[in-house]
Amino acid sequence: MDDPNKDSRLEKTNQRLLEETKNKLEIFEAIHDGIIVFSPRLNIQHINSHAKKLLPLDESFHPASQQIRLFKNRKATISFKFFNWLNSILEKRISKPKEIMVWYSDPRTLKATPLLFSGKVLLSKKGRVKQLLLVVYDRSIYSKATEQKRLMQAAFNSFSGQVIANEKGFIIEANDSFISMSGLSKNSLKEMTIMSWLEKYVKWDKDTQGLLKTILENRYWNGDVEIYSASSHSFNAAMSISMVLDSDHNVEFFIINIQDISEIKEAHSQIEHMAYYDGLTGLANRKLAIKKLSKLIEENIKNRQYNALLQINLDRFKAINDSLGRFTGNRFLKRIAIALRSSLREDDILARIDGDEFIVATQDNEADPTIALEKAKALAIKILDTLDHNFLVDSLTLHCSARIGMLVFPNENDDQPEKLLEKTSLAVNQAKKIASKHRYYVYEKTLTEQVQRKRQMENDLNHACERNEIETFFQAQIDQHKNLYGAEALSRWNHPKKGLISPAEFIPVAEESRLILKIGNWVMVRVFELAKQWTQIKPELVFSINISPIQFHEADFIDHVISCMKETGVNPKNITLELTESVFISDKETALEKIQRLDHIGFKIAIDDFGTGYSSLSYFQKLPIHEIKIDKSFVDKIPASKEDTAIIESIIYLANTKNIKTVAEGVETQKQIDFIHKINSDTLIQGYFYSRPCDAESFEQLFIKP
Ligand code: C2E
Ligand code: CA
Ligand code: CA
Repeated sequence: MDDPNKDSRLEKTNQRLLEETKNKLEIFEAIHDGIIVFSPRLNIQHINSHAKKLLPLDESFHPASQQIRLFKNRKATISFKFFNWLNSILEKRISKPKEIMVWYSDPRTLKATPLLFSGKVLLSKKGRVKQLLLVVYDRSIYSKATEQKRLMQAAFNSFSGQVIANEKGFIIEANDSFISMSGLSKNSLKEMTIMSWLEKYVKWDKDTQGLLKTILENRYWNGDVEIYSASSHSFNAAMSISMVLDSDHNVEFFIINIQDISEIKEAHSQIEHMAYYDGLTGLANRKLAIKKLSKLIEENIKNRQYNALLQINLDRFKAINDSLGRFTGNRFLKRIAIALRSSLREDDILARIDGDEFIVATQDNEADPTIALEKAKALAIKILDTLDHNFLVDSLTLHCSARIGMLVFPNENDDQPEKLLEKTSLAVNQAKKIASKHRYYVYEKTLTEQVQRKRQMENDLNHACERNEIETFFQAQIDQHKNLYGAEALSRWNHPKKGLISPAEFIPVAEESRLILKIGNWVMVRVFELAKQWTQIKPELVFSINISPIQFHEADFIDHVISCMKETGVNPKNITLELTESVFISDKETALEKIQRLDHIGFKIAIDDFGTGYSSLSYFQKLPIHEIKIDKSFVDKIPASKEDTAIIESIIYLANTKNIKTVAEGVETQKQIDFIHKINSDTLIQGYFYSRPCDAESFEQLFIKP
């Protein structure tokens, strides 16, 4: 009997089944793993789109007749028998998932994707094999993570710590170095995200949100940070954070790498300290002073404010160093540095820029330069007072005094610290030169102009010898019978534009630039030549040459004199070399040796400007000296000054006892001559009274071939 409702029931059942299938399919699609349902004959009944993404399969595929590139290993050398594997699940009716790792190698890209196959049979209520369910898991993420870890461990040495976090920031792996550096256990790390670790244990100037942005934008960040270890100490570290993306540009991992750089930091700061601070006094050194000054200049210009720069130079430091030794000298400088620091305000810049050279820069930021200068003068007096004391150094009491050169800045063109220091240095030299009530000197433009003139002169002087501009004049030396004894050679510079320039002006410049070596040499040859000629007519004449200490101290000075002598054929007995007392100050031993050699050859030695220096006559008694030249400054005042008269008397008396000739210089009157000859008739007279210095030609006409 036909049931009229049968059709509609069937209809409904069909409907329900369709519905169920549809639901099932939807569920299939919702699952993010690949799902394939095979019939017992291994025809594909269902396959979701994820499975199609992972493998090149569709409903028409049959594993018995078609091959896909599945392998048992990453290198894709051992093929995976897909059909056999599915068949064995069917045959053995395996209902608990059977898993195997396989690699699918894409024939186009040759990229191997690791897949986890999980297969089982679905049985009907009666125990018949209904279907085979295969779930395909993409394992590339995990494989990458282990790969990354392996790479990291291989690539980085054990000193750097690494963690890997997943795309959500959860730490999934940390190496041993990281564990020990962070002071956290692997387990506690695995409960953290990298953000929570960064927030809690890392100190840096960036906020973590900002950092996150940088990483998301650039995929990479690195910089120096301070890391607090959970075991309570902190250390400096170089940290990098990288973000690893997958091929679809989704975040896959974060990798943090940290390296302990505390030792490098420490070494760096030590190097920096050494580069910027004076090792002896601990004060800023020249380099740092310049750095600070340049900042101050900039601020001054910007804010229209004025500050003062003072350069302090100790008076007798070289003497202390030379006589008491460097060790004591250094201790002395340390004491001075302490005294200076304590006399200044906290924010005043104090630096030692050279040996005994200190600088102070005020930071009063005065709006009015005149007030700034007044304040600077007051500060200079205060500093000089502080230093003008006895300092106890190595159980010695050393007195200190100093000079200060200073200026207020900014001034015109004063935008460079070096320029300011050049100027204060000129001012301090000036403070040393001129004896004033105040021992400081405020820089003025004329100082620079003087220097510029000097530089110009130096420049011109450089070519003076080649251009024959140096001329030798001669001034007669006359004995008691008004006969010519000899002459002193005095140089003149015949400047093409400026005319005759006095040696008092150019010799100091030549000495400073060491051009005196060239000039001195030239003069010596010239005088030796003339002396040779003139002594052929008057064999007893003696010609004096001024020798600069610079020349005398040259190692080959004597050799030089000898070769000049040989070249010109002059007899050394006709030559007197005039040396000043300063020659004997610095290196007595060598000076003595040189003088003995010159004496041995037959030259005469004179001590020039006698009485103006520091040496005593008794000292010269030990030297083979032939002549003493009494300085004009004593001669000037006789017979009016009793003191000078007494000095001259004792010089001549002592010289006589040692058979040393005396010459009175700068004699201008008969009265002076009479007075000198009353003391000693043998004293030679040199001065305008008898003859002014004149050129060689005139001298020859006047004295040699009259
Ligand atoms: P000095 O060696 O003391 O020379 C004597 C100076 O006194 C000379 O000055 C001379 O012209 C000057 N004089 C001589 N008699 C009188 C006088 O009666 N009244 C006055 N007012 N002055 C008198 P000058 O020629 O200007 O030389 C200055 C100095 O330059 C010399 O002083 C000497 O130290 C140096 N000098 C000159 N020529 C040379 C040289 O070729 N080499 C070196 N190294 N120095 C030289
Ligand atoms: Ca002289
Ligand atoms: Ca002289």
